[in-house]
Amino acid sequence: MFDKILIANRGEIALRVIRACSEMGIASVAVHSTADSDAMHVRMADESICIGPPPSSASYLSMPAILSACEITGAQAIHPGYGFLSENAQFVQMVEDHGITFIGPRAEHIRMMGDKITAKETAKALSIPVVPGSDGGVPDIETARRVAAGIGYPVIIKATAGGGGRGMKVAQDEASLEVAFRTARAEAKAAFGNDEVYIEKYLQRPRHIEIQVFGDGRGNAIHLGERDCSLQRRHQKVLEEAPGPVITPEQRDRIGRICADAVARLQYAGAGTIEFLFEDGEFYFIEMNTRLQVEHPVTEAIYGVDLVREQIRVAAGEPMSLRQDQLSIRGHAIEARINAERLPNFAPSPGRISQYHAPGGLGVRMDSALYDGYVIPPYYDSLIGKLIVHGRDRAEALARLNRALNELIVDGVDTTIPLFCDLLKEPDIQRGDYSIHWLERWLEREY
Ligand code: ADP
Repeated sequence: MFDKILIANRGEIALRVIRACSEMGIASVAVHSTADSDAMHVRMADESICIGPPPSSASYLSMPAILSACEITGAQAIHPGYGFLSENAQFVQMVEDHGITFIGPRAEHIRMMGDKITAKETAKALSIPVVPGSDGGVPDIETARRVAAGIGYPVIIKATAGGGGRGMKVAQDEASLEVAFRTARAEAKAAFGNDEVYIEKYLQRPRHIEIQVFGDGRGNAIHLGERDCSLQRRHQKVLEEAPGPVITPEQRDRIGRICADAVARLQYAGAGTIEFLFEDGEFYFIEMNTRLQVEHPVTEAIYGVDLVREQIRVAAGEPMSLRQDQLSIRGHAIEARINAERLPNFAPSPGRISQYHAPGGLGVRMDSALYDGYVIPPYYDSLIGKLIVHGRDRAEALARLNRALNELIVDGVDTTIPLFCDLLKEPDIQRGDYSIHWLERWLEREY
């Protein structure tokens, strides 16, 4: 096992990894920008090292600075968290070339899943169900017309190099296809420097269901069921729950087994998430994320596992401690992403926290790097905490979330806490009856 791990991240996820290291008797090294000198992850780690000025490009994304920090501190492995360098194949290669272990999958798998067309082709080859669509890139409008007529309208045109929900256009019928196709290409070119697009059937009212997978890199893999992340605003997840309110045990077993088999065949190492749209009982692959996700705690809650500990074990060459036949679901978990944002426009709201009080009690987990007097810097994303609740069933989890939100105090900046209080009053949310479009429509009406 490693003696020392460097965490190439900040905020709550850096704390999450430091906590796992501490429980495993591994020393932790925090890296930070000059804007984060007083950050909680710096205080909590065994050692810390400044890697550059505030902009991420010069600090948390600086590969030479992070590698130097490893050399100086003698860290044997790097945990990338999520975001930043977590899905950067070039970084993984550089880390390995320096004799340091990257806690995550191999560069080839990150590269494979980072390109949307290759990802979809790989998924198909591994018997994962995909959205009907073009085989690869669509070069011109004539081909686009033929493909769209073949799969049926409406269709969605997506940038091969896309990400974060950008570079996508929906065409309702053949009349609007040409404009949508040209706009998507122009936007893809402008945003990603690559105008290749592909076409898929547009699903009208799907849910976002993702399967947590885990591999040991040697051909063994398991799945840990699904998370329903349908509540989204501008393709950003807002609330996540596990198990999914509309997924049956049979559907879970079937898609879970397909995903675990696929990951085993790839000899994939570590945690991964296979994302699907789910409509009328069918799963349609959209992408695979080759990292730990923000919303992993809801899975940890219902399966009673520590995914970060498992990532570290596998990276160190130890076998997985989890076995499929020993995994079973207990209860229901929900995560609310608390952002420092001002409603109704969700404008970032950085600044000084005058008072912070975390909720507690049975079935409550608050993952946050906040403390009294902390100043949220304006340079990074606005997630300031994740409130995760666990109950015996969904009704208990909802009641517990409501109770915990009432206990949570974050003064000094605007937050999304009131949004969750309002959401919990909605009958659709109480019933679990929502698609990926529900939240945006509700926000238009209510805010
Ligand atoms: P990105 O990498 O940009 O996030 P995704 O392929 O994951 O792109 O798609 C982002 C979101 O766009 C999905 O979560 C879903 O809301 C919507 N979307 C993508 N493909 C389709 C589709 N075929 N039909 C309906 N909605 C889609």
